[in-house]
Amino acid sequence: MKTLDVLEKLIAFDTDVQNSSLDAVHFVANYLSDHKANVSLISKNYGGQQDANRESLIASFGDIEKPGIIFSGHLDTTKIVEQEHLWERDPLKMTVVDGCVFGKGSTDMKGAISVLLSQVEKLKILAKKYPIHIVLTHDEEGVFTAINQLRDNNFYNLFPLKQKGCIVMEPSELHPVSAHRGNKRISVDIYGKAAHGSVPHMAVDAVYYTFQLYKKAKELAKTYFTEQDNRFEYPKTSLNISNFHAGMSDSMIPDKSHFDLSCRYVPNENIEKFFERFYSTIRIIEDEMKEKFPECSVIITERNHVLPLNTKPNSEILKLVQYSANNNNAKSVTYGSEAGYFQSMGIDTVICGPGNIMCAHKPNEFVLMSDLIKYERFLSNMISFNNSHKKEFSRND
Ligand SMILES: [Zn+2]
Repeated sequence: MKTLDVLEKLIAFDTDVQNSSLDAVHFVANYLSDHKANVSLISKNYGGQQDANRESLIASFGDIEKPGIIFSGHLDTTKIVEQEHLWERDPLKMTVVDGCVFGKGSTDMKGAISVLLSQVEKLKILAKKYPIHIVLTHDEEGVFTAINQLRDNNFYNLFPLKQKGCIVMEPSELHPVSAHRGNKRISVDIYGKAAHGSVPHMAVDAVYYTFQLYKKAKELAKTYFTEQDNRFEYPKTSLNISNFHAGMSDSMIPDKSHFDLSCRYVPNENIEKFFERFYSTIRIIEDEMKEKFPECSVIITERNHVLPLNTKPNSEILKLVQYSANNNNAKSVTYGSEAGYFQSMGIDTVICGPGNIMCAHKPNEFVLMSDLIKYERFLSNMISFNNSHKKEFSRND
């Protein structure tokens, strides 16, 4: 099947991360099984949550007893619903106009997955050198439970040995990407005691304590975030609070307050000290509130944690990707990905995929046809790579 034939089919599956992407996963599983891959489907079962309607896929070609190369991707897409009116075409119907291939998920990242499937014969050739694994998750656009589950189970014992490397197929216009920030996100719910604004001595003001926490978080950030990484436009770790809401009526002192806190950190920052101190500040403030009214509480919910990517400059996978992409550089990106999870298992990881991230998650998402063709060549170049080719960029593309 040609890349566009596969992509048309993948786009037609509604794989909104809120819903099940099972049909798309099974289509890919059947396709790869027909091409003699060893395919495993893993149902979501993480943090006490079981969900048979969500599955990740691991498919392997070659002798899996040897270290191999992983292609990592995700089949889920962001929501269409709130943006439907902004689409000029049916988001689930692939349309090609002037070399642009439109459709939901075309750039992030069904385009890349379509190339892998259409070029499956190249994967089989590569698998004669080293095994090739394809890992596709189901909630990269959500809270990353799939990649956490796979990692915590050592990819269901498929990767007990150290792999040669991993290529995460997020959109990078085929630039090799060696760095992105981590992002740890928490929610904080503050429960005080409501009272009429005229009797503040009877209230435990949730907003007052929220502002105390906000101030403290900013102070701690100044103390504990010390790294500077000039690969990023803003070279330091940043902290922001969002989704703040409190209060129901202007006559009442609010008993409840909520905010989300996001810590986007540069790869070498140790953020644990910050969170340790911030959580102990929360406990001190909670005690202060309880002294006024014992039922007060502050609840912390750790929402998700995208691990940072920081590829070693001399890693074999980076050289392979640079050679195959015909690009001797490595850049950083502003988005997060599952790449850090592979790296945290000791697997050198690089991001490289077709499409521009600026198109992702947006109405009228598209991938350039030329990027898909380049990614097909990328796989051919992988076949021709060997270590003596390290600095040689002589192919026609
Ligand atoms: Zn993506």
